Amino acid sequence: LSLANIQELDDADVLAGYRSLFSLPPNTIYLDGNSLGAMPIGVTSRIKNTLEKEWSQDLILSWNTNNWIDLPLNVGEKIAPLIGASSGQVICTDTTSVNLFKLLATAMKLKPDRHEILSQIDNFPTDLYMAQGLAGMFPDNRLSVHTCTEDEISNTLSTDTLVLMLTHTNFRTGKIHDMKALTRLAHEKGALVIWDLSHSTGAMPIHLDACGVDMAVGCGYKYLNGGPGAPAFLYLTRSLQNKVSQPLSGWMGHEKPFDFNPLYDPGKGMRQYLCGTPSVLAMAGLDAALDIFATVDLQQIQSKSQQLGDLFISLVSQAHLDLNLISPTDGRLRGSQVSFTHPEGYSIMQALIAKGVIGDFREPDIMRFGFAPLYIRYADVEAAVTTMKNVIEEKAYFAPQYQMKNQVT
Ligand SMILES: *Cc1c(COP(=O)(O)O)cnc(C)c1O
Repeated sequence: LSLANIQELDDADVLAGYRSLFSLPPNTIYLDGNSLGAMPIGVTSRIKNTLEKEWSQDLILSWNTNNWIDLPLNVGEKIAPLIGASSGQVICTDTTSVNLFKLLATAMKLKPDRHEILSQIDNFPTDLYMAQGLAGMFPDNRLSVHTCTEDEISNTLSTDTLVLMLTHTNFRTGKIHDMKALTRLAHEKGALVIWDLSHSTGAMPIHLDACGVDMAVGCGYKYLNGGPGAPAFLYLTRSLQNKVSQPLSGWMGHEKPFDFNPLYDPGKGMRQYLCGTPSVLAMAGLDAALDIFATVDLQQIQSKSQQLGDLFISLVSQAHLDLNLISPTDGRLRGSQVSFTHPEGYSIMQALIAKGVIGDFREPDIMRFGFAPLYIRYADVEAAVTTMKNVIEEKAYFAPQYQMKNQVT
């Protein structure tokens, strides 16, 4: 592809206009929207209003007058169409990790005669850690965490599997699971499923209801652009609601928190998945960020993400950089990210960042590049590869300042 061809791709891009809704630094190509989404401009005025009007002037009255109290449900309703959920099944609250704990415990109560959480060995570690934490609370054999490789999932599912807990888009490789097929497989064994949608939500259409999914969680600060540490979300299919209560039974999940009754009575529907007081400032930011998705077609987002990724893969291959692709070449099997391995991956990424191309690094040798279709242009992909070619060919990454590991990679 010539530069003129790349310009044509940007000119024909139906999503091109969305870039102006984001605040991006100059001279920077941001290929890490899969880890921390860029800041939508609308978030500033919303948080300013929450600070300067709602908090400063309306004070505690805001819980009623500015409806802070329903923010978790209302933001959940805004996320619902992005994950193929009809109304009343999604709530915005806490973190993905904490929400996994609530759902795993719910699964345990729904299926008391089953003993095993099954997950993938290369799942995002917090998912495995939360399962281990829950299992550790019970005497041996009540609950165990079993991990297997992707290929082993179907043969490892058994009639003792309580829940199959998987991440839809693999955070290392970007490979997408077949949600419908795996959900069906788990159900055939009588197990429940929990899908972690952290690296999928906002990057592609998802069909939780249509796939018959039981439970799901996901992140607010990746492709949803809710800001650092934005609250996460939790989905529980309607037919499993109000059957059992989850153990993080804080007052905000009580049916009548302001009755101050000493006995816990779980709220109806999704409300009982609240624990304590919601983080209003952070949730207001996410709420504003989600407005961008009101007019956007997720199918278009997915097609552009596939094209951006395809272009990146083909330009890197033409550049002969000795990088090893670990993401699927077939865009339909790939989330909105492309990963390569290289023994000097960490220092190459540091050198790239110094030149204004921001991706990230995952142990032991993975360079990860995310392509958030709402604000990444085809020309950015081309420029990123040119910079990478220079960094690698000039061996700029051998400079000592690029070798030193930061706390966050
Ligand atoms: C980013 C991510 C998380 C993050 O969890 P937090 O509790 O919000 O920090 C969890 N799971 C997956 C798969 C992720 O990609």
